[in-house]
Amino acid sequence: MAHPELHNMSVAELALALRNKQVSAVETAQHFLQRIDAHKALGAFVDLNAEATLAQARAADAALAAGTAGPLAGVPIAHKDIFVTRDFATTAGSRMLKGYRSPFDATVVARMGAGVGHGVPSGPAAAAAGAGMVTLGKVNCDEFAMGSSNENSAIAPIGYDTPEPVRNPWNTSRVPGGSSGGSAAAVAACLAPAATGTDTGGSIRQPAAFCGITGIKPTYGRASRYGMIAYASSLDQAGPMARSAEDCALLLSAMCGPDPDRDSTSLDTPAEDFSASLNAQLKGLRIGIPKEFFGEGLSADVRAAVDAALTRYEALGAQLVPISLPRTELSIPVYYIIAPAEASSNLSRFDGVKFGHRAKDYTDLVDMYKKTRAQGFGDEVKRRIMIGAYVLSHGYYDAYYLQAQKIRRMIADDFQQAFQSCDLIAGPVAPTVAWKLGEKSDDPVANYLADIFTLPASLAGLPGMSLPVGFGEGGMPVGMQLIGNYLSEARLLNAAHQFQVAHPEFHTARPEGTA
Ligand code: GLN
Repeated sequence: MAHPELHNMSVAELALALRNKQVSAVETAQHFLQRIDAHKALGAFVDLNAEATLAQARAADAALAAGTAGPLAGVPIAHKDIFVTRDFATTAGSRMLKGYRSPFDATVVARMGAGVGHGVPSGPAAAAAGAGMVTLGKVNCDEFAMGSSNENSAIAPIGYDTPEPVRNPWNTSRVPGGSSGGSAAAVAACLAPAATGTDTGGSIRQPAAFCGITGIKPTYGRASRYGMIAYASSLDQAGPMARSAEDCALLLSAMCGPDPDRDSTSLDTPAEDFSASLNAQLKGLRIGIPKEFFGEGLSADVRAAVDAALTRYEALGAQLVPISLPRTELSIPVYYIIAPAEASSNLSRFDGVKFGHRAKDYTDLVDMYKKTRAQGFGDEVKRRIMIGAYVLSHGYYDAYYLQAQKIRRMIADDFQQAFQSCDLIAGPVAPTVAWKLGEKSDDPVANYLADIFTLPASLAGLPGMSLPVGFGEGGMPVGMQLIGNYLSEARLLNAAHQFQVAHPEFHTARPEGTA
Protein backbone atom coordinates (compact mmCIF):
# COMPACT_ATOMS: atom_id res chain seq x y z
CA MET A 1 0.00 0.00 0.00
CA ALA A 2 1.42 3.37 -1.01
CA HIS A 3 1.85 6.17 1.50
CA PRO A 4 1.64 9.32 -0.61
CA GLU A 5 2.13 11.50 2.46
CA LEU A 6 5.36 9.93 3.73
CA HIS A 7 7.76 11.76 1.42
CA ASN A 8 6.25 15.13 2.32
CA MET A 9 6.80 14.54 6.03
CA SER A 10 9.62 16.18 7.92
CA VAL A 11 12.30 14.30 9.82
CA ALA A 12 10.53 15.29 13.06
CA GLU A 13 7.14 14.02 11.82
CA LEU A 14 8.57 10.77 10.47
CA ALA A 15 10.45 10.07 13.69
CA LEU A 16 7.21 10.51 15.65
CA ALA A 17 5.10 8.42 13.26
CA LEU A 18 7.67 5.62 13.47
CA ARG A 19 7.85 5.79 17.24
CA ASN A 20 4.03 5.70 17.46
CA LYS A 21 4.01 2.71 15.07
CA GLN A 22 1.79 4.55 12.59
CA VAL A 23 4.17 3.36 9.93
CA SER A 24 7.08 0.90 9.97
CA ALA A 25 10.66 1.65 8.98
CA VAL A 26 10.41 -1.01 6.27
CA GLU A 27 7.28 0.58 4.73
CA THR A 28 8.96 3.98 4.91
CA ALA A 29 12.13 2.74 3.22
CA GLN A 30 10.11 0.98 0.49
CA HIS A 31 8.13 4.13 -0.17
CA PHE A 32 11.25 6.25 -0.61
CA LEU A 33 13.02 3.63 -2.75
CA GLN A 34 10.01 3.64 -5.10
CA ARG A 35 10.09 7.41 -5.22
CA ILE A 36 13.82 7.48 -5.97
CA ASP A 37 13.17 5.10 -8.86
CA ALA A 38 10.33 7.24 -10.21
CA HIS A 39 12.53 10.35 -10.18
CA LYS A 40 15.82 8.84 -11.29
CA ALA A 41 15.95 11.25 -14.25
CA LEU A 42 17.17 13.88 -11.75
CA GLY A 43 20.40 11.91 -11.47
CA ALA A 44 20.66 12.49 -7.73
CA PHE A 45 21.58 8.96 -6.62
CA VAL A 46 24.77 7.16 -7.62
CA ASP A 47 24.37 3.96 -5.62
CA LEU A 48 21.45 2.04 -4.15
CA ASN A 49 21.39 -1.29 -2.33
CA ALA A 50 17.76 -2.08 -1.52
CA GLU A 51 18.72 -5.22 0.38
CA ALA A 52 21.00 -3.28 2.74
CA THR A 53 18.46 -0.45 3.13
CA LEU A 54 15.70 -2.89 4.04
CA ALA A 55 17.98 -4.77 6.44
CA GLN A 56 18.71 -1.48 8.22
CA ALA A 57 14.97 -0.73 8.27
CA ARG A 58 14.17 -4.13 9.78
CA ALA A 59 16.79 -3.50 12.47
CA ALA A 60 15.19 -0.11 13.18
CA ASP A 61 11.74 -1.72 13.45
CA ALA A 62 13.13 -4.31 15.87
CA ALA A 63 14.74 -1.59 18.00
CA LEU A 64 11.49 0.42 17.95
CA ALA A 65 9.56 -2.64 19.07
CA ALA A 66 12.07 -3.37 21.82
CA GLY A 67 12.15 0.24 23.02
CA THR A 68 15.90 0.47 22.42
CA ALA A 69 15.71 2.67 19.31
CA GLY A 70 17.77 5.81 18.73
CA PRO A 71 16.04 9.20 18.47
CA LEU A 72 15.63 9.12 14.66
CA ALA A 73 15.07 5.37 14.29
CA GLY A 74 13.75 4.35 10.92
CA VAL A 75 13.92 7.82 9.35
CA PRO A 76 15.60 7.55 5.94
CA ILE A 77 18.69 9.54 4.96
CA ALA A 78 20.85 9.81 1.85
CA HIS A 79 24.61 10.19 2.24
CA LYS A 80 26.82 12.33 0.06
CA ASP A 81 29.14 10.01 -1.84
CA ILE A 82 32.15 11.44 -0.05
CA PHE A 83 31.36 9.57 3.20
CA VAL A 84 32.65 6.02 3.17
CA THR A 85 29.99 3.34 3.67
CA ARG A 86 30.23 -0.43 4.07
CA ASP A 87 26.89 -1.20 2.45
CA PHE A 88 27.23 1.07 -0.59
CA ALA A 89 29.98 1.95 -3.05
CA THR A 90 31.94 5.14 -2.32
CA THR A 91 33.37 7.06 -5.27
CA ALA A 92 33.67 10.74 -4.25
CA GLY A 93 32.44 11.39 -7.80
CA SER A 94 35.72 10.12 -9.22
CA ARG A 95 36.74 7.51 -11.79
CA MET A 96 39.61 6.91 -9.39
CA LEU A 97 37.27 5.25 -6.89
CA LYS A 98 34.66 3.77 -9.24
CA GLY A 99 33.19 0.70 -7.54
CA TYR A 100 35.24 1.19 -4.35
CA ARG A 101 33.77 -0.41 -1.25
CA SER A 102 34.97 0.72 2.16
CA PRO A 103 35.47 -1.82 4.96
CA PHE A 104 33.98 0.62 7.50
CA ASP A 105 31.43 3.42 7.88
CA ALA A 106 32.45 7.07 8.35
CA THR A 107 31.82 8.26 11.91
CA VAL A 108 29.03 10.56 10.70
CA VAL A 109 27.35 7.67 8.86
CA ALA A 110 27.70 5.43 11.91
CA ARG A 111 26.34 8.08 14.28
CA MET A 112 23.32 8.76 12.08
CA GLY A 113 22.77 5.03 11.71
CA ALA A 114 23.43 2.04 13.92
CA GLY A 115 26.13 3.66 16.03
CA VAL A 116 29.87 4.03 16.21
CA GLY A 117 31.44 0.64 16.61
CA HIS A 118 29.36 -0.68 13.71
CA GLY A 119 32.17 -1.93 11.53
CA VAL A 120 34.88 0.28 13.01
CA PRO A 121 37.69 -0.85 15.29
CA SER A 122 36.70 -0.59 18.94
CA GLY A 123 37.88 2.17 21.28
CA PRO A 124 36.33 4.41 23.92
CA ALA A 125 34.06 6.08 21.34
CA ALA A 126 32.80 2.73 20.10
CA ALA A 127 30.08 2.69 22.72
CA ALA A 128 28.32 5.74 21.24
CA ALA A 129 24.79 4.79 20.23
CA GLY A 130 23.49 5.73 16.79
CA ALA A 131 20.38 7.74 15.90
CA GLY A 132 18.98 4.71 14.04
CA MET A 133 18.45 6.30 10.64
CA VAL A 134 18.18 4.11 7.53
CA THR A 135 20.50 4.78 4.59
CA LEU A 136 18.62 5.02 1.27
CA GLY A 137 21.74 5.26 -0.85
CA LYS A 138 24.59 7.50 -1.94
CA VAL A 139 24.05 10.80 -3.68
CA ASN A 140 26.17 12.46 -6.33
CA CYS A 141 28.72 15.21 -5.76
CA ASP A 142 31.47 17.03 -7.59
CA GLU A 143 34.67 14.99 -7.87
CA PHE A 144 36.39 15.05 -4.46
CA ALA A 145 33.93 17.86 -3.55
CA MET A 146 35.60 20.30 -5.94
CA GLY A 147 32.97 22.40 -7.61
CA SER A 148 29.95 24.65 -7.32
CA SER A 149 27.55 23.04 -9.79
CA ASN A 150 27.87 19.25 -9.48
CA GLU A 151 28.96 19.13 -13.12
CA ASN A 152 32.36 17.70 -12.15
CA SER A 153 31.24 14.17 -11.25
CA ALA A 154 32.66 11.30 -13.31
CA ILE A 155 30.05 8.82 -12.09
CA ALA A 156 26.93 7.74 -14.02
CA PRO A 157 23.90 8.21 -11.76
CA ILE A 158 21.39 5.38 -11.22
CA GLY A 159 19.33 5.11 -14.41
CA TYR A 160 22.10 6.46 -16.68
CA ASP A 161 24.95 4.67 -18.48
CA THR A 162 27.28 7.65 -18.65
CA PRO A 163 28.09 10.53 -16.27
CA GLU A 164 25.28 13.10 -16.21
CA PRO A 165 25.05 16.18 -14.04
CA VAL A 166 22.49 16.21 -11.24
CA ARG A 167 19.47 18.30 -12.22
CA ASN A 168 17.86 20.99 -10.12
CA PRO A 169 14.29 19.81 -9.28
CA TRP A 170 13.02 23.40 -9.65
CA ASN A 171 14.13 23.50 -13.27
CA THR A 172 15.89 20.50 -14.75
CA SER A 173 17.94 22.63 -17.14
CA ARG A 174 19.64 24.30 -14.16
CA VAL A 175 22.44 23.12 -11.87
CA PRO A 176 21.59 22.01 -8.32
CA GLY A 177 24.69 23.72 -6.97
CA GLY A 178 27.71 21.93 -5.62
CA SER A 179 29.52 20.12 -4.47
CA SER A 180 26.66 18.52 -2.44
CA GLY A 181 24.30 18.79 -5.44
CA GLY A 182 22.89 15.27 -5.19
CA SER A 183 22.07 15.81 -1.51
CA ALA A 184 20.24 19.07 -2.23
CA ALA A 185 18.33 17.74 -5.24
CA ALA A 186 17.26 14.57 -3.38
CA VAL A 187 15.91 16.54 -0.42
CA ALA A 188 14.25 19.24 -2.56
CA ALA A 189 12.48 16.60 -4.67
CA CYS A 190 11.41 14.72 -1.50
CA LEU A 191 13.39 11.61 -2.50
CA ALA A 192 14.78 11.69 1.05
CA PRO A 193 13.72 13.72 4.08
CA ALA A 194 17.36 14.46 4.86
CA ALA A 195 20.86 14.11 3.49
CA THR A 196 24.40 14.61 4.65
CA GLY A 197 26.61 17.14 2.93
CA THR A 198 30.13 18.44 3.35
CA ASP A 199 31.22 22.03 3.12
CA THR A 200 34.81 23.08 2.44
CA GLY A 201 34.04 26.45 0.90
CA GLY A 202 30.25 26.47 0.67
CA SER A 203 29.19 23.03 -0.54
CA ILE A 204 26.34 22.65 1.95
CA ARG A 205 25.09 26.25 1.93
CA GLN A 206 25.21 26.94 -1.80
CA PRO A 207 23.38 23.82 -3.07
CA ALA A 208 20.85 24.24 -0.24
CA ALA A 209 20.24 27.79 -1.50
CA PHE A 210 20.02 26.71 -5.16
CA CYS A 211 17.48 23.97 -4.37
CA GLY A 212 15.38 25.86 -1.81
CA ILE A 213 16.24 23.71 1.23
CA THR A 214 17.91 24.31 4.60
CA GLY A 215 21.47 23.30 5.45
CA ILE A 216 24.04 23.99 8.12
CA LYS A 217 27.82 23.74 8.17
CA PRO A 218 28.77 23.58 11.84
CA THR A 219 31.89 25.03 13.45
CA TYR A 220 35.05 23.36 12.11
CA GLY A 221 35.66 20.31 14.31
CA ARG A 222 32.06 19.81 15.51
CA ALA A 223 31.56 16.72 13.37
CA SER A 224 34.17 14.03 12.90
CA ARG A 225 35.99 13.92 9.56
CA TYR A 226 36.80 10.23 10.00
CA GLY A 227 35.74 8.43 6.84
CA MET A 228 34.96 11.65 4.99
CA ILE A 229 37.20 11.57 1.93
CA ALA A 230 39.55 14.51 2.40
CA TYR A 231 39.59 17.52 0.09
CA ALA A 232 41.11 20.33 2.20
CA SER A 233 41.46 19.03 5.74
CA SER A 234 41.64 22.39 7.53
CA LEU A 235 38.32 23.42 5.96
CA ASP A 236 36.26 20.23 5.40
CA GLN A 237 33.24 19.93 7.63
CA ALA A 238 30.15 17.70 7.55
CA GLY A 239 26.63 18.94 8.09
CA PRO A 240 22.96 18.11 7.54
CA MET A 241 20.67 19.20 4.70
CA ALA A 242 16.90 19.00 5.15
CA ARG A 243 13.77 21.01 4.43
CA SER A 244 13.67 22.96 7.71
CA ALA A 245 15.87 24.30 10.48
CA GLU A 246 13.91 22.15 12.94
CA ASP A 247 14.99 19.04 11.03
CA CYS A 248 18.58 20.27 10.72
CA ALA A 249 18.66 20.68 14.52
CA LEU A 250 17.61 17.06 15.05
CA LEU A 251 20.14 15.82 12.50
CA LEU A 252 23.01 17.97 13.75
CA SER A 253 22.42 16.77 17.32
CA ALA A 254 22.91 13.21 16.10
CA MET A 255 25.89 14.04 13.91
CA CYS A 256 28.17 16.04 16.21
CA GLY A 257 30.40 15.09 19.09
CA PRO A 258 34.03 14.33 19.83
CA ASP A 259 35.78 11.48 18.03
CA PRO A 260 39.17 11.58 19.75
CA ASP A 261 40.28 8.13 18.60
CA ARG A 262 39.75 8.79 14.94
CA ASP A 263 39.83 12.53 14.23
CA SER A 264 42.30 14.51 16.29
CA THR A 265 40.79 17.79 15.03
CA SER A 266 37.32 16.92 16.30
CA LEU A 267 36.40 19.26 19.13
CA ASP A 268 36.08 18.16 22.73
CA THR A 269 32.72 19.89 22.98
CA PRO A 270 30.11 17.30 23.94
CA ALA A 271 27.17 16.58 21.66
CA GLU A 272 24.42 19.14 22.13
CA ASP A 273 20.64 19.02 21.82
CA PHE A 274 20.17 21.72 19.19
CA SER A 275 16.38 21.26 19.25
CA ALA A 276 16.13 22.49 22.83
CA SER A 277 16.59 26.18 22.04
CA LEU A 278 14.63 26.53 18.79
CA ASN A 279 11.77 28.47 20.34
CA ALA A 280 13.64 31.41 21.85
CA GLN A 281 12.26 34.82 20.80
CA LEU A 282 14.39 36.94 18.48
CA LYS A 283 13.67 40.18 20.31
CA GLY A 284 16.91 42.12 20.68
CA LEU A 285 18.93 39.80 18.41
CA ARG A 286 21.58 41.91 16.67
CA ILE A 287 22.04 40.84 13.06
CA GLY A 288 25.20 42.19 11.43
CA ILE A 289 24.88 43.21 7.77
CA PRO A 290 28.32 43.18 6.10
CA LYS A 291 28.38 45.89 3.47
CA GLU A 292 30.79 43.83 1.36
CA PHE A 293 28.07 41.18 0.91
CA PHE A 294 25.69 43.67 -0.72
CA GLY A 295 28.00 45.28 -3.31
CA GLU A 296 28.31 45.23 -7.05
CA GLY A 297 28.51 41.50 -7.73
CA LEU A 298 25.16 40.72 -6.11
CA SER A 299 22.31 40.25 -8.59
CA ALA A 300 19.18 42.35 -8.08
CA ASP A 301 16.79 39.41 -7.64
CA VAL A 302 18.87 37.80 -4.87
CA ARG A 303 19.32 41.16 -3.20
CA ALA A 304 15.57 41.85 -3.23
CA ALA A 305 14.76 38.48 -1.60
CA VAL A 306 17.47 38.85 1.06
CA ASP A 307 16.44 42.45 1.81
CA ALA A 308 12.82 41.34 2.22
CA ALA A 309 13.93 38.59 4.61
CA LEU A 310 15.91 41.08 6.67
CA THR A 311 12.81 43.29 6.96
CA ARG A 312 10.90 40.23 8.18
CA TYR A 313 13.62 39.62 10.78
CA GLU A 314 13.18 43.18 11.98
CA ALA A 315 9.46 42.57 12.34
CA LEU A 316 10.34 39.54 14.50
CA GLY A 317 12.24 41.82 16.87
CA ALA A 318 15.78 41.63 15.49
CA GLN A 319 17.90 44.69 15.06
CA LEU A 320 20.03 45.18 11.92
CA VAL A 321 23.55 46.44 12.56
CA PRO A 322 25.82 47.62 9.73
CA ILE A 323 29.20 45.85 9.89
CA SER A 324 32.23 45.39 7.66
CA LEU A 325 34.16 42.28 6.64
CA PRO A 326 36.82 44.20 4.74
CA ARG A 327 38.74 41.22 3.38
CA THR A 328 35.74 39.44 1.83
CA GLU A 329 37.13 39.77 -1.70
CA LEU A 330 40.48 38.30 -0.67
CA SER A 331 38.77 35.13 0.50
CA ILE A 332 38.66 33.92 -3.13
CA PRO A 333 42.43 34.01 -3.86
CA VAL A 334 43.19 32.86 -0.30
CA TYR A 335 40.82 29.89 -0.49
CA TYR A 336 41.94 28.94 -4.00
CA ILE A 337 45.53 28.73 -2.74
CA ILE A 338 44.93 26.95 0.57
CA ALA A 339 42.30 24.44 -0.62
CA PRO A 340 44.30 23.24 -3.67
CA ALA A 341 47.49 23.12 -1.54
CA GLU A 342 45.83 20.76 0.91
CA ALA A 343 44.11 18.85 -1.89
CA SER A 344 47.40 18.22 -3.72
CA SER A 345 48.71 16.61 -0.56
CA ASN A 346 45.52 14.68 0.32
CA LEU A 347 45.09 13.28 -3.17
CA SER A 348 48.62 11.90 -3.28
CA ARG A 349 47.21 8.76 -1.64
CA PHE A 350 45.46 7.87 -4.91
CA ASP A 351 48.48 6.29 -6.53
CA GLY A 352 47.05 3.07 -7.97
CA VAL A 353 48.53 1.01 -5.14
CA LYS A 354 46.17 1.28 -2.21
CA PHE A 355 42.78 2.40 -3.54
CA GLY A 356 40.62 2.13 -6.61
CA HIS A 357 41.81 2.57 -10.15
CA ARG A 358 45.15 1.29 -11.47
CA ALA A 359 46.29 1.75 -15.08
CA LYS A 360 46.42 -1.52 -17.01
CA ASP A 361 49.58 -1.10 -19.06
CA TYR A 362 52.69 0.46 -17.59
CA THR A 363 56.42 -0.01 -17.77
CA ASP A 364 57.57 0.72 -14.22
CA LEU A 365 56.34 2.17 -10.92
CA VAL A 366 56.60 5.82 -11.94
CA ASP A 367 54.85 5.10 -15.24
CA MET A 368 52.10 3.30 -13.28
CA TYR A 369 51.61 6.33 -11.01
CA LYS A 370 51.48 8.71 -13.95
CA LYS A 371 49.06 6.70 -16.05
CA THR A 372 46.82 5.86 -13.10
CA ARG A 373 46.49 9.47 -12.03
CA ALA A 374 46.11 10.76 -15.59
CA GLN A 375 43.27 8.31 -16.18
CA GLY A 376 41.66 8.46 -12.75
CA PHE A 377 41.32 12.18 -12.10
CA GLY A 378 39.08 14.63 -13.97
CA ASP A 379 40.13 18.05 -15.30
CA GLU A 380 39.11 20.15 -12.28
CA VAL A 381 40.93 17.84 -9.88
CA LYS A 382 44.08 17.91 -12.03
CA ARG A 383 43.89 21.70 -12.21
CA ARG A 384 43.79 21.92 -8.42
CA ILE A 385 46.60 19.41 -7.91
CA MET A 386 48.76 21.52 -10.23
CA ILE A 387 47.87 24.79 -8.48
CA GLY A 388 48.43 23.18 -5.09
CA ALA A 389 51.81 21.68 -6.00
CA TYR A 390 52.84 25.04 -7.45
CA VAL A 391 51.93 27.18 -4.44
CA LEU A 392 53.69 24.74 -2.12
CA SER A 393 56.83 24.49 -4.19
CA HIS A 394 60.22 25.81 -3.19
CA GLY A 395 60.49 29.48 -4.05
CA TYR A 396 56.72 30.04 -4.23
CA TYR A 397 55.69 28.76 -0.81
CA ASP A 398 56.38 32.10 0.93
CA ALA A 399 54.84 34.19 -1.82
CA TYR A 400 51.58 32.24 -2.08
CA TYR A 401 50.89 29.65 0.60
CA LEU A 402 52.35 31.48 3.58
CA GLN A 403 50.84 34.78 2.48
CA ALA A 404 47.44 33.12 2.10
CA GLN A 405 47.71 31.67 5.62
CA LYS A 406 48.40 35.14 7.01
CA ILE A 407 45.38 36.63 5.26
CA ARG A 408 43.28 33.70 6.42
CA ARG A 409 44.06 34.69 9.98
CA MET A 410 43.12 38.31 9.25
CA ILE A 411 39.79 37.18 7.78
CA ALA A 412 39.09 35.27 11.00
CA ASP A 413 40.06 38.36 13.03
CA ASP A 414 37.67 40.51 10.97
CA PHE A 415 34.81 38.26 12.05
CA GLN A 416 35.79 38.57 15.72
CA GLN A 417 35.81 42.33 15.30
CA ALA A 418 32.33 42.16 13.72
CA PHE A 419 30.95 39.94 16.50
CA GLN A 420 31.74 42.71 18.99
CA SER A 421 28.67 44.53 17.69
CA CYS A 422 26.35 41.72 16.52
CA ASP A 423 25.16 38.24 17.53
CA LEU A 424 25.06 36.79 14.05
CA ILE A 425 25.72 37.89 10.49
CA ALA A 426 23.29 37.70 7.56
CA GLY A 427 23.73 38.02 3.83
CA PRO A 428 23.25 36.19 0.56
CA VAL A 429 24.62 32.66 0.07
CA ALA A 430 25.54 33.17 -3.58
CA PRO A 431 25.52 36.17 -5.92
CA THR A 432 22.87 34.63 -8.22
CA VAL A 433 20.26 31.88 -8.30
CA ALA A 434 21.18 28.50 -9.84
CA TRP A 435 22.62 28.95 -13.31
CA LYS A 436 21.93 26.85 -16.41
CA LEU A 437 23.66 23.50 -16.92
CA GLY A 438 26.79 24.08 -18.95
CA GLU A 439 26.71 27.85 -18.53
CA LYS A 440 29.94 28.04 -16.51
CA SER A 441 31.41 24.61 -17.07
CA ASP A 442 34.18 25.87 -19.35
CA ASP A 443 35.10 28.74 -17.08
CA PRO A 444 36.63 27.61 -13.77
CA VAL A 445 37.22 31.17 -12.59
CA ALA A 446 33.53 32.06 -13.02
CA ASN A 447 32.75 29.11 -10.74
CA TYR A 448 35.31 30.24 -8.16
CA LEU A 449 33.94 33.80 -8.09
CA ALA A 450 30.45 32.53 -7.26
CA ASP A 451 31.84 31.25 -3.92
CA ILE A 452 32.57 34.73 -2.59
CA PHE A 453 29.96 34.83 0.18
CA THR A 454 30.50 31.31 1.52
CA LEU A 455 34.32 31.24 1.60
CA PRO A 456 34.89 33.75 4.44
CA ALA A 457 33.10 31.66 7.11
CA SER A 458 34.88 28.53 5.85
CA LEU A 459 38.31 30.13 6.14
CA ALA A 460 37.47 31.32 9.65
CA GLY A 461 36.05 27.90 10.67
CA LEU A 462 32.75 29.51 11.66
CA PRO A 463 29.31 27.88 11.49
CA GLY A 464 27.11 29.01 8.61
CA MET A 465 23.71 28.05 7.34
CA SER A 466 21.40 28.62 4.42
CA LEU A 467 17.64 28.97 4.53
CA PRO A 468 15.22 29.62 1.68
CA VAL A 469 13.81 33.16 1.74
CA GLY A 470 12.26 33.76 -1.68
CA PHE A 471 12.42 33.27 -5.42
CA GLY A 472 14.45 35.07 -8.05
CA GLU A 473 15.15 34.96 -11.76
CA GLY A 474 13.31 32.13 -13.54
CA GLY A 475 11.38 31.30 -10.35
CA MET A 476 14.50 29.76 -8.80
CA PRO A 477 14.89 29.66 -5.00
CA VAL A 478 17.02 32.23 -3.17
CA GLY A 479 18.86 31.33 0.01
CA MET A 480 19.92 33.58 2.84
CA GLN A 481 23.07 32.87 4.78
CA LEU A 482 23.40 33.19 8.56
CA ILE A 483 26.91 33.07 10.03
CA GLY A 484 27.52 32.73 13.78
CA ASN A 485 30.50 32.83 16.07
CA TYR A 486 32.24 29.58 17.05
CA LEU A 487 29.86 26.96 18.51
CA SER A 488 26.80 29.14 18.07
CA GLU A 489 24.89 26.58 15.96
CA ALA A 490 21.99 26.65 18.44
CA ARG A 491 21.57 30.38 17.91
CA LEU A 492 21.71 30.04 14.11
CA LEU A 493 19.15 27.25 14.07
CA ASN A 494 16.91 29.21 16.43
CA ALA A 495 17.05 32.28 14.19
CA ALA A 496 16.27 30.20 11.10
CA HIS A 497 13.47 28.27 12.84
CA GLN A 498 11.74 31.43 14.05
CA PHE A 499 11.77 32.76 10.49
CA GLN A 500 10.36 29.49 9.16
CA VAL A 501 7.57 29.44 11.75
CA ALA A 502 6.59 33.03 10.92
CA HIS A 503 6.98 32.64 7.13
CA PRO A 504 6.43 29.00 6.20
CA GLU A 505 5.75 29.83 2.54
CA PHE A 506 9.41 29.51 1.52
CA HIS A 507 10.66 26.31 3.12
CA THR A 508 7.39 24.47 2.44
CA ALA A 509 7.27 25.39 -1.26
CA ARG A 510 7.90 22.33 -3.46
CA PRO A 511 9.14 22.18 -7.04
CA GLU A 512 6.44 21.23 -9.55
CA GLY A 513 6.21 17.56 -10.40
CA THR A 514 7.51 16.42 -7.02
CA ALA A 515 4.27 16.70 -4.99
N1 GLN B 1 33.10 25.54 -4.67
C1 GLN B 1 34.16 25.36 -3.74
C2 GLN B 1 35.26 24.54 -4.37
O1 GLN B 1 35.09 24.15 -5.47
C3 GLN B 1 33.68 24.74 -2.47
C4 GLN B 1 33.49 23.28 -2.56
C5 GLN B 1 33.19 22.65 -1.23
O2 GLN B 1 32.77 23.31 -0.29
N2 GLN B 1 33.45 21.36 -1.14
O3 GLN B 1 36.24 24.26 -3.78
